[in-house]
Order: sequence, then C-alpha cells, then structure tokens
Amino acid sequence: MWNSVIQELKKTENSNIMRAFINPLFSVKESEEEIVIGCPSKQLIQYLEKNGIKEKIYQIAKDLFDPDIEIKFVVKAKELAEDMQPPLPLSEPVEIPKSKTARKSTHLLSDYTFSNFVSGPSNEAVYAASQLVSKNPGSNYNPLCIYGDSGLGKTHLLQSIGHGLIDKKLSVCCLSGQQFINEFVKSLSSNVRGEFRSNILKYDSLLIDDVQFLANAGASQDELFFLFNEFHSQKKQIAITSDKYPVELKNIDDRLKTRFSWGVVLEIKPPEFETRKAIVLKKAQLYNLKLESDVSDFIAQNIRNNVRELESALRTIQIMADLVGKAVIDRPFAENTLRERIKTRTDVTADYIIKITAAITDIKVRDITSAERSKKVSIARQIAMYLTKKYTKHTLSEIGDRFGGRNHATVIASIEKIEKIMLTDTTVKKMVERLEREIEEKGS
Ligand code: ADP
Ligand code: MG
Repeated sequence: MWNSVIQELKKTENSNIMRAFINPLFSVKESEEEIVIGCPSKQLIQYLEKNGIKEKIYQIAKDLFDPDIEIKFVVKAKELAEDMQPPLPLSEPVEIPKSKTARKSTHLLSDYTFSNFVSGPSNEAVYAASQLVSKNPGSNYNPLCIYGDSGLGKTHLLQSIGHGLIDKKLSVCCLSGQQFINEFVKSLSSNVRGEFRSNILKYDSLLIDDVQFLANAGASQDELFFLFNEFHSQKKQIAITSDKYPVELKNIDDRLKTRFSWGVVLEIKPPEFETRKAIVLKKAQLYNLKLESDVSDFIAQNIRNNVRELESALRTIQIMADLVGKAVIDRPFAENTLRERIKTRTDVTADYIIKITAAITDIKVRDITSAERSKKVSIARQIAMYLTKKYTKHTLSEIGDRFGGRNHATVIASIEKIEKIMLTDTTVKKMVERLEREIEEKGS
C-alpha cells in the first residue's frame, strides 16, 4: 500500500524532495484500517507536516484505499535491508575494539553541533537532511551536497553531521577543499606515496567543506574522484559543501560535478527575520550575554546579510560590554555599539515609506502629508515619520518638510509618541513591525 502512495506522490513532487524526504520513510504496518509509516527522525516528521507533505500523503491514501483509513507516523530506525548495511570500516576487521578500528576523526569544532544550530524556513530542509545523514549514513542521501552563500551555516552543518556520525561510533574525515589540496600535495613529495589515499580510505565517512577550492587543482580533483568512488561504492557517507550549485562550479571536472549531484543537493538560504532573531537569542545564551527583550529585535532587523555578521555583532557587543562593565545590554547600548556597521539604506526613501505606510494602514498617500488630524491618519503619519527617521538619512527638519511642512519639534514628538505607543499597544507595534519587514525585504 505504501508503495502505491509513493507512486502517486512521485507524480507531483520533484525528485529532490522524493529522495530527501520521502525515500527515508518506510512502511511498518499496513492493513485496511491503518498504515503505520516509520520515519528515522522527529525532525523529518515535522518537516513533512510543515510543508504539507503529510497532508498529501493522507489525501492520497484516502483516495486510493478507504476514506476512513488512518495514517500514523512513528519515529523508528529502518530495519536495514541487505543493500543498506551501515558502513563499517572495511579496512580493518570488525572484531578489533571500536577505538582502534577507526582513525581518530579530524577537524571538528565542538560548538558546531545540531543542537547549536537554529533552523527556520530558510534552512530547515538542509537541517533535516543533515540530521538524517548523520542518523542513517550511507543510505540514499549519498552524497549530501549543501550549497549556498558564505556565512549561512554550511560548515556548521557539515561539522554537525560529523559529530552525529562520531556519536554512532563512525570515524569522520573532515577536510576543507584547501586542506585536501595541501595534504595531498604534501604527500606527493613525501617518501610514502599513496599514504594520503590509504589514510583517508580508513575513515568511515568523508566530509569535504568548500569543495570549490579544488577548482583548477587537477591532480587533487583526480584524487577526490577516486576517493569518492571508493566511499560511494562502499556505502560510506560523503557530504560536501560548496558556494554554488555543484553543476555550476567552475574549473571542476564534469565527472566530479556529476557525482556531487548523485545524492541530494540542497541550498541553504539567508535566514529571515524570525530565524535571525532566534539565532541572536541562541548565540547570546552561548556567549552568556544578557539582552533586554528589544535588543534581539534590533539586531535581527539591522543585520541581515548572514549569520556570521550576526555573530560578529554580538561579539562586538560582548567586548564593549565587558570593557565598560555593562551586565545587561539595552537597546541604546546595542545601537551605539553597532552604529558603524549598520549602514543606512540608501535605497529606502521617504516616498517609499509613505507609500507602503499608506497602503498598509489603508489611507491615502496625500492624507499622510496633509493637515488632517483624525486619529487614524495621525497615527499613520507618525509611524511613517518614525520609520523615515529609522531607515533614511534625512534630518528631523527634512522629515518635517516632507510630511507637510511640520517643524522639527513636531517630528521628535511624533517619533517619541510612536515609541511609547508601541510599548503598550500591540496593534500598533505589529503594524510597525510589519512595515519594517516590508522595508527590509525590499533591499535584501
Ligand atoms: P558557511 O560555512 O556557510 O560560510 P558557517 O557554517 O561558517 O557558514 O557559519 C558562520 C557562523 O554562523 C558560524 O559560527 C555558525 O555557527 C553560525 N551559524 C550559521 N547558521 C547558523 C544557524 N542557523 N544557527 C546557529 N548558528 C549559525
Ligand atoms: Mg564554511
């Protein structure tokens, strides 16, 4: 029955989704009343649910079998079929005590674990796939290829996979593309040629970070090609990261690029506001940094490009706080500390802010800059002034001019009023936040 469901699903889901999220599922029990589906992790079940795939499965099963059929998902390891044996170190017999079978693993940073990784819409597919790989290595996610821009968590996830594999008592060879080249080249000039290869072959898994560094390094690419084939054919897990979709990598051999896409290829994207905020909170906790409640909002709103920048902003705050002995970070302190790095956006204009404020508050653009004093219009006008001050370089008098020739004291009063209202009135606060999000999305 489960197989028929899969056949149906295939008609609508693309092959990457099928491979990444459907293939790991398996039937535990099937009867006329119910189908029980095993799933290797709780995260995968959550992912299926969030992305409506679970719902689709229900629908298909109801259509195919019985409208009253029950579908249950249980977290369960797959009984390993013949062709799915877990990878064991083939180079040495299994009887040797575990600690000696595998080489000590390389280059893993202790902070880069799944539990320190914050997942959200931008990265949850990659996160789920990475967890699956570490729980069920050498299965159909081989290799797992993660690509995306710098500072978005590729190395963090790759290393988390490494930690997960080590927890399963598997050894992990984790090298950056650059280290791979260095070690390989070094071995060419050493007395024991071939040692590089035989050393790596002893590991149970191969993780290569930033594989784009192998561009133009022909001999190293040949070596990786050989190792890839060995690991793959022995069902030992391979995972790689790269800054581009593998097929688009420049100066990397086609045969290697093709192989990178054999398993699952997933992109990691820049986190959106909610995830950035969760990351700030998580890191603050890791750094033992106490933030007042509006500080995480402020940082997440203003530092948008990538996670590395978020981290470095927090580190800067931490250093400054230590210097002046500040125990709890409030918003003015954060603003002051980060002033230099928060560039005023040049593409956000007062006109744009007026336009979207009018649209979202459902009043006319010309009312915002008019003398009209009804409550609804006044609030919208004050919000727009507040946002103009926040997102543009205009002085208070310039803002006053733009908003119907008001003086600079009026502008200050308006901004202060909105700041105050936001403390108590959640409707206004939500509206301002929604506008802030619109403004930020515009330029990102
Ligand atoms: P990349 O390899 O993609 O350039 P990294 O993995 O080095 O990025 O991530 C940069 C920094 O940001 C690391 O310190 C990492 O811990 C952190 N980071 C990235 N994404 C997340 C996330 N989703 N949750 C927590 N920390 C993250
Ligand atoms: Mg990296």
